[in-house]
Amino acid sequence: MEVRFWGARGSHPRPMTPDELRSKISTVVHRIQPSDVEDPHSRERFLLGLPDWLFRPAGGNTPCVELRLSDSECIVFDAGTGIIQLAEDWARRGYSEDCINLFFTHFHYDHVQGLPFFGPAYNPSSRIRFFSPVEKFESTLRSHMQHPFFPVTMEGKMTERMEFHVLREEELLVSGARVRYRLMNHPGGAYAYRVDYRGRSFVYASDAELQNEDFERSQANRDFFEGVDVLILDTQYTLGEAIEKYNWGHSAFSLSVDFALTWKVKRLFMFHHEPRYSDKRLVKNLESARAYAIKSSSHELQIELSREGSRITV
Ligand SMILES: [Zn+2]
Ligand SMILES: [Zn+2]
Repeated sequence: MEVRFWGARGSHPRPMTPDELRSKISTVVHRIQPSDVEDPHSRERFLLGLPDWLFRPAGGNTPCVELRLSDSECIVFDAGTGIIQLAEDWARRGYSEDCINLFFTHFHYDHVQGLPFFGPAYNPSSRIRFFSPVEKFESTLRSHMQHPFFPVTMEGKMTERMEFHVLREEELLVSGARVRYRLMNHPGGAYAYRVDYRGRSFVYASDAELQNEDFERSQANRDFFEGVDVLILDTQYTLGEAIEKYNWGHSAFSLSVDFALTWKVKRLFMFHHEPRYSDKRLVKNLESARAYAIKSSSHELQIELSREGSRITV
């Protein structure tokens, strides 16, 4: 499986401000030595040697993650503004998906606001299967594309080949992948998804304020979280903010690290980045998370920031 991140920012989109852009350019210019621009190779070396917070931004789009099973089959999680970029990438690559499988964690704005701008939905030959465990989620989706919120309705211009599947069974098969879901603690509820495919496992838990019960060694927790190869998890706050924002529905990154260590996860991807955080701040949090993991446990946990446009193999 391959994961492609198209939106990792939480709560609302967060474009880079002109001041931030100017500051980044100015920092880069100050670092350049004559030997860095001698030829194309030295330029490339210079750029790759820049710190992550300067050259590998986390991005400002809201949640959308593509899990590619093969060249022709994929599962998409959430339709935040990142899904607009996903569609542009598909167009560039000439992908014409036979069937788009789109799973929703929940329906807060940051997880649906890209849907009205999702190009493939306007192609009459597209077949889109929407999934959620929430009863009547079809009317929720349809009602968010209505006058006066948006000039085009889902019935008006989108493909007629849309299917709405309310998840009732414990698991389902999508293109040979086993998909399960689990309710997480979040205002109004949000679902995490686990995908198992060809011996590899992946969990997407975008919005979650972790609770004691999530750490209990129940069979249900073990089946869902234990030993997962890749876990994408809410790490929006610092511990101080999580205490201040108790019940807002998001987790302190240190608690998410504890969680990943408890369940012997192999790779943790910090996700649902706080919109107020600059790249520098996010990288600082990443470094703190890594140091905390090393101090807390002998389990070898890899921790990374989810970065828009990046891709990883599961
Ligand atoms: Zn969210
Ligand atoms: Zn939410």
